[in-house]
Amino acid sequence: MSRIAYVNGRYLPHRDAFVHVEDRGYQFADGVYEVCEVRGGKLIDERRHLDRLDRSLKELRIAAPMSRGALSTVLRETVRRNLVRDGLVYLQVTRGVSRRDHGFPAASVPPSIVVTARSANFAKNDATAAAGMKVISLPENRWDRVDIKSVGLLPNVLAKQAAREAGAGEAWFVDAQGFVTEGASTNAWILTQDGVLVTRPAEHGILRGITRTVLMDVAAEMQLKVEERAFTLDEAKAAKEAFVSSATSLIMPVIAIDGTPVGTGAVGPVARSLRSEFHKFAEASA
Ligand code: PLP
Repeated sequence: MSRIAYVNGRYLPHRDAFVHVEDRGYQFADGVYEVCEVRGGKLIDERRHLDRLDRSLKELRIAAPMSRGALSTVLRETVRRNLVRDGLVYLQVTRGVSRRDHGFPAASVPPSIVVTARSANFAKNDATAAAGMKVISLPENRWDRVDIKSVGLLPNVLAKQAAREAGAGEAWFVDAQGFVTEGASTNAWILTQDGVLVTRPAEHGILRGITRTVLMDVAAEMQLKVEERAFTLDEAKAAKEAFVSSATSLIMPVIAIDGTPVGTGAVGPVARSLRSEFHKFAEASA
């Protein structure tokens, strides 16, 4: 089966799915994106992802490419045409195509939109989660508007590659004060020795992950105390458990940080339960 991408109003075979050389996403990373899980053919937490998309667009003063209803239809149609039951749908909106000039183009320039979808091997993700993954730490070097889900991801790209080269699955950014901000593409969490879940507040310095938001509900149901506060790398290394959250990895246990085992050095029961309970709390829309 050949993959299909939605590009500015048309469903195209991947080999013909192009954006213009002067698209501002390509020239300036002047755009935003979302990644939504597809499970059993349903979009997971679509409403929250589209709310966050609206916020990212507003913060950057990029016009919405179409109504929410139309966007929903395009997401579903792209999933359908790619025969995705379990996988991901990706959506990107940029400030459009215009002669290269840093300032905004005329208001008449429409935003560009691309939607792609692909299947993922959830059994493989589950196997990775059952084994746990290692993380490395790196100095935070991103701009201070990481609350916007912008396609400007170069520090994240370099961090993820550094993690891979170190045999780890994720890199945690650490700010100048020694506090963990988040992962290259995930939010970071620890469980303290006295059983409190800790994750950095989402007001500043991190992306407000949708998985993170849903996990707050899962934790409440499990009667786990959650503290939204920054934690240091040393605190994380001394924690009982650690894990990351994202739409693509869900809840992924962390078993070592910079070579130091976390807790017993094996996947802990709290991370495991949060992962197994997650979809009872996420919204699935047909
Ligand atoms: N933080 C960063 C930097 C991310 O790129 C992502 C997801 O891509 C997340 C956190 C997790 O967000 P979500 O749970 O909405 O996938």
